[in-house]
Amino acid sequence: MNHYQQFVTNNYYFRPDQSEYWQTYLINNILLILIPIFLFLFFLNIFIHRLFFVAIIDLMAIIIAVILLVIFHRTNDVKNISIFSVTLYTCLLIAYILISGPSDYAFTWILVFPPVSYILLGRNTGRFVTMVSFMLIFLGILFFSPPWVSNELSLISFINLLFAAICVTILISFSELSRAKAYDFIKLKNEELMRLSHTDALTGISNRLKLDEVMMKELARIRRGTPHFSIIMGDLDLFKRFNDSYGHLVGDQILVEIASAIVPICRLTDTVGRWGGEEFLIICPETSVEGATILAEKIRKSVESLPLHRYGSVTISLGVTGSKLADDINTIVMRADRALYLAKSAGRNQVRSVQNTDFQLSLDESELSHFS
Ligand code: GH3
Ligand code: MG
Ligand code: MG
Repeated sequence: MNHYQQFVTNNYYFRPDQSEYWQTYLINNILLILIPIFLFLFFLNIFIHRLFFVAIIDLMAIIIAVILLVIFHRTNDVKNISIFSVTLYTCLLIAYILISGPSDYAFTWILVFPPVSYILLGRNTGRFVTMVSFMLIFLGILFFSPPWVSNELSLISFINLLFAAICVTILISFSELSRAKAYDFIKLKNEELMRLSHTDALTGISNRLKLDEVMMKELARIRRGTPHFSIIMGDLDLFKRFNDSYGHLVGDQILVEIASAIVPICRLTDTVGRWGGEEFLIICPETSVEGATILAEKIRKSVESLPLHRYGSVTISLGVTGSKLADDINTIVMRADRALYLAKSAGRNQVRSVQNTDFQLSLDESELSHFS
């Protein structure tokens, strides 16, 4: 098992580029560290200090930490366990500070508070919870036992601590903000890269990589029982001749225009891509061969009637086929190629289909070389 796949939650894994991954890591460790610490404090308070009330708080902390850990491992509910863990930590801290008094500087622990709550609860909730807790702790200290009254701490030391805590909060807030911005930026760039790696540079429609991925997914889907999909393979007629007459650059421009003409005819759920030079492939999920043939005919008519000004007209031949359970990408594309070949041999500017049920692959090399 991959080392970070251990943090599994309802059917997906947290990856290190997700904040949940680090939150999971932090919660686990905080809860695991809290247990032995409070166990030690529990025995210390029972047998040495004889502070039974404080020992009960320690015991409660242990029980709550164990319960949270068990629930966390069962549910992986990062959000709610984070809230509970921070609440637990806050309550313990407040209780500890108020009970132990100022002499042992217990309140220096509030400096740990901002990073924990910001990381576990996110910036907005973290800031809110930090501010409220700081107010409670400082007001509690002021109200119950101002340390400088008993001369255990100077007022200046107290103010220093207060400002140090505010500074830590501002710094962690800034650090979390810059982290979040950097994360958003990387995410955006990744999405852009993903889009580019799946897009054909000339026409802007899907490229071969994307078409392969979609077909793989559709093949997996039909094996899980969803309705069959169909594919349409289109190849421009006598395009070599067109290029020879008007040049490759004009040919390229025509490819762009044809791609733009095909896309709006198809459904949003269909994937329109460039399979090769002047070949287009359209994947139509949950579509019968008959349905895809109707679409192919629409595409044929639309290409035929494209206004290409002084360049005359371009036509397209299309082959349609549907998926079989035993298919892989090769076999289904071979069937579509076979249908395309039938359209070409019937005189071009035609649509032909090959059924997905009874067709046996029997292409020989000479047949293929006709239009490849
Ligand atoms: P057929 O009707 O049998 O398909 O004839 P065809 O001339 O179209 O032959 P084929 O399908 O083999 O097409 C290959 C030609 O398509 C070669 C080349 O001139 C043209 N072609 C392929 N890719 C591109 C491209 O990216 N841009 C341009 N302008 N032309 C291309
Ligand atoms: Mg071709
Ligand atoms: Mg061609």
